[in-house]
Amino acid sequence: MPELPEVETVRRTLGPHLLGRTILAVHVGSYLPVIGAHSPDELSALVGGREITRLDRRGKYLLIGLDDRSGVIVHLRMTGALSVVDRDAPPLRFEQLRILLDDGRDLRFTDQRRFGRVTYRPATDARPLEAKLGPEPLSARFSAIYLATTLAGRTAPIKALVLDQRIVAGVGNIYADEALFRSRIHPRRRGGSLSAVEVARLRRAIRRALRLGIEHRGTTFSSYRDANGKEGGNQSRLLVYGRGRRGDPCPRCGLPLVVETVAQRTSHLCPHCQPFATPTKGRRTLRRDYPVE
Ligand SMILES: [Zn+2]
Repeated sequence: MPELPEVETVRRTLGPHLLGRTILAVHVGSYLPVIGAHSPDELSALVGGREITRLDRRGKYLLIGLDDRSGVIVHLRMTGALSVVDRDAPPLRFEQLRILLDDGRDLRFTDQRRFGRVTYRPATDARPLEAKLGPEPLSARFSAIYLATTLAGRTAPIKALVLDQRIVAGVGNIYADEALFRSRIHPRRRGGSLSAVEVARLRRAIRRALRLGIEHRGTTFSSYRDANGKEGGNQSRLLVYGRGRRGDPCPRCGLPLVVETVAQRTSHLCPHCQPFATPTKGRRTLRRDYPVE
């Protein structure tokens, strides 16, 4: 499921294909909800003749910017993917939509689960995403002070809060588990129970996990591919995600990793390195849930 590093990798690999190209038309398949409120003809008329001037990312959203400052917002959700192919290439598997380009190629959107969306964003509504998205985790706005203030008093599990796109944009299940392991915080800890030191550690860990994901071109477990159809390289470098079910040894302490359901999501963690404890002054009190050797 594409998260920030995967969408960023798609953005980077799409750039050389799309920037400077002019859109001729849009062809939509039989599943019309993919384009949201517009009809296929309306969408085609709105973007037809427009040049693609920029490609941006906000959280897990990709923004294709056009020369009249309008744009197309792509949300890959679970299984959405974008690729650029020759116009006469046969329909791709699970193809939902084609954007015809002036160089004889198509930008094609495929989506097996059909939760993904490719929607028009008018120039007058340039920042529709801002209302529902928190800061970019790799920006200066995502400071330790911001995170501490936001988590203060929150009783929800920290895992749920890290996944909340209004608190920080772009983090999903994979990078949340990696960041919580790196910062040695149990995913079920209440957000408001984290000490200032833990909050700072968590912020650093989120940024580190995402940066590594981008550096290795994203994580592929099943469907994720970049715009050139290539799998990511980050899956073999994950510390805990996907390893709990097999009981693989913790990379830090060597004890078996485990899987737990937290906030309705599968969480991979080390119960030894990430004790479910509320730190008190001078010592740590450990709950009985996890016997610590
Ligand atoms: Zn461990």
